[in-house]
Amino acid sequence: MKDSNCIFCKIAAGEIPSKTVYEDEKFRVVMDLGAASEGHALIIPKNHYANLMELDEETAAGVLPLAGKISRAMMKGLKCDGLNLVQNNGEEAGQTVMHFHLHVIPRYKGGAEVIEWKPGSPTAEEMEAAASRIKAEL
Ligand code: 5GP
Ligand code: ZN
Repeated sequence: MKDSNCIFCKIAAGEIPSKTVYEDEKFRVVMDLGAASEGHALIIPKNHYANLMELDEETAAGVLPLAGKISRAMMKGLKCDGLNLVQNNGEEAGQTVMHFHLHVIPRYKGGAEVIEWKPGSPTAEEMEAAASRIKAEL
């Protein structure tokens, strides 16, 4: 369940030192080396899953409660004004480390933008067509 070439496997296992804020049997939560804001953390499962599509359901079920726990601690401890959860899958989506991780990014009034997109304006037909293609695979 580990990939010997994967840096996040090594970080999660404690083989590469990291600023750890939380650890249990399944997860390690560390400070991001390239933090987008003060306190930016990464929730990393100890087992190797390349992305969300590969994540097993039991691990997946642990991620959001842990994100909630870390978020509550950030709101109190960092006095941030909000936070974003970000989870990239695939190079095209900005994933650079191919071991599933969830970013927990504290946000501060007046701080830098973290996630931005320009809202589009799909037609009803376009939305229906996209929805049908997804539904066909469920
Ligand atoms: P991604 O772009 O894959 O969603 O995010 C990868 C994140 O991992 C980036 O925000 C990057 O700053 C962080 N990162 C990359 N290498 C290391 C490392 O060795 N240690 C830590 N703590 N963070 C890392
Ligand atoms: Zn890994």
